[in-house]
Amino acid sequence: MNALKPGSTIGILGGGQLGRMLAVAAAQLGYRCHIYAPENNSVAAEVAAQFTCAGFHAVEALDAFAKDCDVLTFEWENVPVEPLKSIADQAALHPPTNALNIAQHRITEKNFAQEQGGRTAPFAEVTDRTTLDNAIADIGTPAILKTLRMGYDGKGQALVKPNDNLDLHWDAVEQQPCIAEGFVTFSHEFSVILVRGQNGDIRYWDTPHNVHQGGILATSAVPAPSQVVDQQAEARALASKMATAMDYVGVLTCEFFATDDGPIFNEMAPRVHNSGHWTIEGAITSQFENHIRAICGLPLGDTSLAAERVEMTNLIGEDANQWNEILADDKNHLHLYGKGQSRAGRKMGHITKLFF
Ligand code: AMP
Repeated sequence: MNALKPGSTIGILGGGQLGRMLAVAAAQLGYRCHIYAPENNSVAAEVAAQFTCAGFHAVEALDAFAKDCDVLTFEWENVPVEPLKSIADQAALHPPTNALNIAQHRITEKNFAQEQGGRTAPFAEVTDRTTLDNAIADIGTPAILKTLRMGYDGKGQALVKPNDNLDLHWDAVEQQPCIAEGFVTFSHEFSVILVRGQNGDIRYWDTPHNVHQGGILATSAVPAPSQVVDQQAEARALASKMATAMDYVGVLTCEFFATDDGPIFNEMAPRVHNSGHWTIEGAITSQFENHIRAICGLPLGDTSLAAERVEMTNLIGEDANQWNEILADDKNHLHLYGKGQSRAGRKMGHITKLFF
């Protein structure tokens, strides 16, 4: 492996809190970060050495950015792939663009998981009002309608119940191409978070049990209950097959439902993930540090738990206003993302609690 020397520049596409936490981890290892993002109030840029504020289709700006960087990565899985082709010769990009192609399209993603031996909810593609009728007739109800692209935190989704008026759901997803998925009855949700190095070495963090509220992650906790731990080996085997098939470098997160029939793959995030934020204090090496180590060709760090039990709670919207009370509990590690204005449903920060 060709390790990148401290003092080198890491380019991060995307300017949100994931980029911010990556930049902090990179700085600790002596690297400079250059953030590329379309928004001028990027919370990642606030903690980085350099910032280019430009759109993801601005090829000249992308080119100048890539020339300044020794390696490139992204913190947002919806970065458009086509413009990245023009900078492919400037600096290595990890994870590979193939991972973006797969993660950006819900059907490609589910087909890929199945090809690697995974199980998914039954699903069908919806392109218009007629295919919506057919899909719901095939899959049955309840079903979930999700836009094929650009969905996150439960946005662009509609729950279809028996005898619902499908016209209303079709309008709710703005008549965009969709996937219709069978509703999975699960006991728990969990994620496999792994890091794959440039030499193919794979390490896993403990598997968090994730609780969502209104489609948004509320808490992640380790160790997970036995129903999750029992399904961990199968889920990890799928995630590692997927990572190896993509020739993946960096942190990869795969989300699963724990069911009576074993783990059902829901989706993957080709990046550090909210369900891994607990690793900053709760693991020997965090997901952010190991992502930086992987993309820079450094040896990977120990992913073991640093406490007996770790709980991460997201601070959504006005939750973050309680920062003073939160810090009054000396078990709490508070992370605020510097977003200023809180809005309903906006991730403003998180708390991690360690138990020994
Ligand atoms: P997603 O955007 O696919 O991660 O979905 C957001 C959340 O909606 C998931 O974390 C689940 O809580 C729920 N959800 C998504 N798809 C399904 C499904 N097929 N069956 C049951 N619940 C689902």
